[in-house]
Amino acid sequence: MQTLVADHPLVAHKLTALRDESTQTPVFRRLTDELVTLLAYEATRHIRVEPVSVQTPVAPASGVRLARPVPLVVPVLRAGIGMLDGMTRLLPSAEVGFVGLVRDEQTLVASTYAERLPSDLTGRHAFVLDPMLATGGTLETVISMLVSRGAGGVTAICLLAAPEGVARLAAAFGDDSPARVRVVTAGLDEKLNDRGYIVPGLGDAGDRLFGEI
Ligand code: URA
Repeated sequence: MQTLVADHPLVAHKLTALRDESTQTPVFRRLTDELVTLLAYEATRHIRVEPVSVQTPVAPASGVRLARPVPLVVPVLRAGIGMLDGMTRLLPSAEVGFVGLVRDEQTLVASTYAERLPSDLTGRHAFVLDPMLATGGTLETVISMLVSRGAGGVTAICLLAAPEGVARLAAAFGDDSPARVRVVTAGLDEKLNDRGYIVPGLGDAGDRLFGEI
């Protein structure tokens, strides 16, 4: 498994503003949206394209277009919904599936409560949107669902990651994994605390995006 921490001053600037506890929901949403579009640029670096010719007003030109089947984007409910627009802005032709997981705050174990995914993902690339890679339990579950449906590759886009979560995914999707798994994140933080929060992190991403419901 490969982990890419986006190294760009604009990403670092927006991430710092996101972390700030005084950043209120409307600005938090806008920053998340902008950050995801920047991360999506990195995350789609190896996306499959096919050659195509077009006629410009001056002459024929050779170029490329996204190869079929189109990628699948999977926001993890609820917080991943806040990342969807930022991703589909860059990939408007992608299909969108959904997985809902809820984390038990005592055991930190995530369980699935909703799922809408194609049954066959053979040869397709999937992009999973989940702002916080903390223990890695949620992403391990979602990536396993996609791999078991035949996805050729899975890229998780996260605002922040903890070393514990990265290690869990690396163990689950090592060299013997049938699909190539990548994590693209704006920052790799220090650790998890005893409540499973990323330190220093940004708090509860779902609450900051959508309120403490
Ligand atoms: N989920 C969050 O929203 N924040 C964390 O720090 C960890 C998991």
